[in-house]
Amino acid sequence: MKQKLAAFFSGRYGADELAKAMLILYIVISAVTVFVGNATLRIVLNVLSLTVCIFMFYRMFSKKIAKRAEENRKYLLLRRNTKQWFLLRRNKWTYRKTHVYRSCPHCGAQIRLPRVAGDHRCDCPKCQERFSVHIK
Ligand SMILES: [Zn+2]
Repeated sequence: MKQKLAAFFSGRYGADELAKAMLILYIVISAVTVFVGNATLRIVLNVLSLTVCIFMFYRMFSKKIAKRAEENRKYLLLRRNTKQWFLLRRNKWTYRKTHVYRSCPHCGAQIRLPRVAGDHRCDCPKCQERFSVHIK
């Protein structure tokens, strides 16, 4: 029995960060479903949570490891970009009275500059290109 179980699990993809996120999503949807009064909406949420759960186990038991790793890589990239987007919004708000943010016309990097009115020349710390900036 133990060997059969070990043989079943060998070569399977297993859990990763995307699986963890799907588990959390499943728990959140299930928790929200408890408080929903509408029967139709509750059915929709149950189907959704079940779909997430099935897809999570499908990925964990999949033998297509390269495909699952690519899905996880895309998820991690999306998560990182989303975090950076929110961090930039928060920083723009926090430093709004002392600094301005401009994007580099060459590489698109966001650059924080001291809020000093006038025309300035700026060196991008990422691509080292020089560009002009006007601050009101
Ligand atoms: Zn640049």
